[in-house]
Amino acid sequence: MTYVIGHKNPDTDSICSAIGYAAFKNAMNAGSAQAARAGELNPETTFVLEHFGLPVPEYLESAADKDLILVDHNEVAQAVDDVNDARILEILDHHKIGDIQTAEPIYFRAMPIGCTATIVYLCFKENDLTPDAATAGGLCSAILSDTLAFRSPTCTPLDQEAAEALAKIAGIEDIQAYAKQMFKAGSELAGKSPKEILYMDFKKFTAGSTTYGVGQVTSMDEDELAELSKTMTSYMNESFSEHGVDMLFLLLTNILEESSELVVAGEGAEETAKKAFTSAEADRLYLKGVVSRKKQVVPPLTEVLS
Ligand code: MG
Ligand code: MG
Ligand code: MG
Repeated sequence: MTYVIGHKNPDTDSICSAIGYAAFKNAMNAGSAQAARAGELNPETTFVLEHFGLPVPEYLESAADKDLILVDHNEVAQAVDDVNDARILEILDHHKIGDIQTAEPIYFRAMPIGCTATIVYLCFKENDLTPDAATAGGLCSAILSDTLAFRSPTCTPLDQEAAEALAKIAGIEDIQAYAKQMFKAGSELAGKSPKEILYMDFKKFTAGSTTYGVGQVTSMDEDELAELSKTMTSYMNESFSEHGVDMLFLLLTNILEESSELVVAGEGAEETAKKAFTSAEADRLYLKGVVSRKKQVVPPLTEVLS
């Protein structure tokens, strides 16, 4: 059994690329690839799987002695527990090259594009295969999610072409209308604790001797984001020591305005952010045009901290 698995705090790309790439591997060689997940589904992904009738991937608590294909990440800090005791057979990713090490040569496909699901789509296409409608729906959703429906600067023409082709297979008639429905389901925050909100989409990074975490909440509702800014600022400051990082950042992203407010906690976090985002407004870290953690937030933070 080979498990295809994305990062912890899985997003729609980590789940749907795992589903899609497992389907691809099984179509190629009738092998025994199976999609797995390294954590709980977020509300957006729950909506996507229900919408297309896709099964929830199996939860993998430990990767020890397992055969793995990693999708949508290649950093140990983001991977399923005990990844260093697993056999990594392949990696498909669209992030910077991290610190995963392997004992043997592997197939490692990294592309500087908007979404891992686009790479999965290319694998199907290059081999004259077509994903089934449900899988195509999941892959299309992953692209819309990662690229904020083509608004993110990480989005490339390849991503848009893939999403449009997948939408056809999946029977999605109006991509933007579907994306809106998906984002709305994903930003359903009612009943969630501040801790759950922080960890809905959260990643840890290391730069120099500093470990920092960056969460992201995307919404189309300005009032909701303003309210979150207050509650999350207090929560992150009060609970700071529980999170096991030197600095904590949370991006509150307004999808329609294509901008984010950055909430920070931890010694030196505000100074770091102000150095990293020199155009930020003085009273609050309002980052105009910033929507991508990967491309617009982590590189400048890492540069300041290194
Ligand atoms: Mg991801
Ligand atoms: Mg991704
Ligand atoms: Mg994401």
